[in-house]
Amino acid sequence: MDEQQRGKVAAMLEFYHDLGIEEFYIQRSEAASVTINAERRSSDGEATTKATSVRKEADVCPESQKAVSGESAASARTIPAVSVHSVVTAGPVPQSMSLFESPSTATPPRENETLDQIREDLGDCHRCRLASGRKTIVFGQGNPLAELVFVGEGPGADEDVQGLPFVGRAGQLLNRMIQFIGMKREEVYICNIVKCRPPGNRTPMPDEIGMCSPFLFRQIRTINPRLVCCLGAPAVRTLLGVKEGITKIRGRFYDFRGTKALATVHPAYILRNPREEKILQEDFQKIAEFLKAAR
Ligand code: URA
Repeated sequence: MDEQQRGKVAAMLEFYHDLGIEEFYIQRSEAASVTINAERRSSDGEATTKATSVRKEADVCPESQKAVSGESAASARTIPAVSVHSVVTAGPVPQSMSLFESPSTATPPRENETLDQIREDLGDCHRCRLASGRKTIVFGQGNPLAELVFVGEGPGADEDVQGLPFVGRAGQLLNRMIQFIGMKREEVYICNIVKCRPPGNRTPMPDEIGMCSPFLFRQIRTINPRLVCCLGAPAVRTLLGVKEGITKIRGRFYDFRGTKALATVHPAYILRNPREEKILQEDFQKIAEFLKAAR
C-alpha cells in the first residue's frame, strides 16, 4: 500500500472507530481473513500503530506520568499542564464488518459541521432498541462554543419528558456545582452517552452506546471544548476506555482526542450518598482551576 492509500485507510478506520466498529476483515479468498492494523495518531502527533481490537487502558500509564502540556495537536486552544492518565480510545461495540461495507448507522462526519447538522443526521432515530421506549430524544443542551462539556449517562424520566438533559434532581445538583465554580448552566454544554431514556433508568447497553456515541463524539468535536467532564463510570468508560472503579479514578485528567477530560462521579451517586458531596466539590474545583489556567 502506498502512503496515500495508507492515509485513506487510516481515515476510514478513524470513522468506523467513531461508530464503535473496531474489527475488520478482508475476505481475500474463501479461506483467508486478515485483521487490519490501524495507524492512529496520539494526541502529541506521534504516529502509533496498533491492532484495532486492542485498547490502551489507563492502567498502562503510571500515576506518576507527567502532564502533557501546551498546545494540543487537535485544538487551537491552549491547555494547561495537568496530570494526564491515558491516551484514549472509545466505542464498545463488539461487531465485525467488512471495511468496504457501508454502515447504515450514521452519516460520515462533515468537516466543520454544526450541532444542527448533527441533530439533523440523527433524525427520528431508531438505530437501537431505546427508541421504542422513549418519549423524546435528548440531544444535548447549552452553549455551542462551550469551553466545558458535561457528559452523563442517559436521560431519566424528567429528561425524557422535557427533551433536555439533567433537568431532574441530579440536574439540580449539577446546576448547583456549576454555580459553585462561578459558572452558569447556559455557559456550558450538557449531553449524555445515549440520547434516549433506558427503560427503568438502567445503564445503557454496549450496543446502544455504540450506536449513539458517534453522535456524541461529533458533538464534542464540533464544540471543541477545553475540557470534557465525564459524569460517572459509563461516561468514563465510553469516552476514555477506562474500566477502573470511578471512585478510584475520579479527579484524574485524561486525554480525549486532543482535548482534556476529567473523570468524576455522577451527581446521582451524591444524591444517594449525600455525605460524599465534598468529592464532587473537589473535582469541580479542579475544573475551575484547569479552566482558569487555560484562559
Ligand atoms: N442522568 C444522566 O446521566 N443524564 C441526564 O440527562 C439526567 C440524569
